Parts: sequence; C-alpha cells; structure tokens
Amino acid sequence: MTGSAHATAATGKECWRTSSTKQRIILFEKAFIPSTIFNFMRSNTHILLGMLAGSVYFSYFPAKGLVLQVLFSLALIFGVLLPDIDEAHSTIGQRAGFISKLIQKIFKHRGFFHSVWMILILFALFKFVFVKYFTLNDFILMGFLVGYAAHLLGDAITVNGIKPFYPLGLTIRGPVRTGKFSEVLVALAIITWMVTH
Ligand SMILES: [Zn+2]
Repeated sequence: MTGSAHATAATGKECWRTSSTKQRIILFEKAFIPSTIFNFMRSNTHILLGMLAGSVYFSYFPAKGLVLQVLFSLALIFGVLLPDIDEAHSTIGQRAGFISKLIQKIFKHRGFFHSVWMILILFALFKFVFVKYFTLNDFILMGFLVGYAAHLLGDAITVNGIKPFYPLGLTIRGPVRTGKFSEVLVALAIITWMVTH
C-alpha cells in the first residue's frame, strides 16, 4: 500500500487516505467481495490456467484414449501445484509437511522451484529416468511439464513476479495481485475463453 497513514485524534485508530485508484480497488474488494472467494481463488486460478494451457496443448497434440487423457490431466494438475511446494502454507506445501518447510528454508519461496532450471531438471529426470526405465508415457510427462510451466506463467503475471533464471536477478512481473480482485478477473477471463472455444 502506498498511501500515508495518520492517526485520528478521537479514536487513536489508523485511517488511510483513499485518493489513489489502487486504494479504491482495495476498499471495493473489502466491501463487496467476501474473503472466502479470494481464498478460493488463491488455490484455483493456477489450476484454471493449467487447464487452459493443457487444452491448448491438447488441441495440437491430442491424446489417444480416455485413460491417457485422464493421466495427462492428473499429471497436469500435479505439475500446476508442485512449484508451490517451496511455500509451506500452500495447498501442496501443507500436504508435504516438513519436506515443504525444508525446501522453503533452503530454496526460498519463488526461488529455484519457480525457475526454468527446475523445469529442465524435471524434464531430464522424467525423460531419462522415468520414461526410459519405467516406460512412463511421454504424453504424461508433457502434461506435468505444461502444468508446471503454466504455474510459473501464472506467478509471472503477478506484482511479485518470478525470477525465471534464479539466482540471477532478472524478474518478470505483471499487474495481478494474488488473492485480490485482479486475480478474479484473470480467472473469469480464462473461464470465458474456455467456454467459448
Ligand atoms: Zn508459485
């Protein structure tokens, strides 16, 4: 928040100047949109974006058979959720428990796990180990990678952004504020596109 706070003499409470557009949006959000919607959005906009990326990939490389389509979708959702294992309070972080806490401590949130290096490492791991020795289908591997990349794209359009070549300092960021009204707009845009295409 960029506004200046000043105490009111009567109550001693802080109040905020509401001159900027950003602050008007924040007040609008608090007044009209329940926080439960934002909490819901936090964990689901990434999945929506992953579904969008998956459907685009699907349109170029359609899977043969229902089983493969289901496995592609499951791998995609896992790929969408996995990057946030570097944040202990995220959807996947809460399930991973101490592993997530350890990763967060070592790599920091939106650090190495949110970089292209991680995608390359996972690609190599899956391609040259799981696909080669465990005959994992290439298509499932791509579902996972598309999901992972879609997550990074989703974070890259937020105001905090990501460092795609971490630890190099180059940061990609956008206008979307996580868990706020702008994220709802992104989700609605994705849903609209998917329904109309
Ligand atoms: Zn993330």
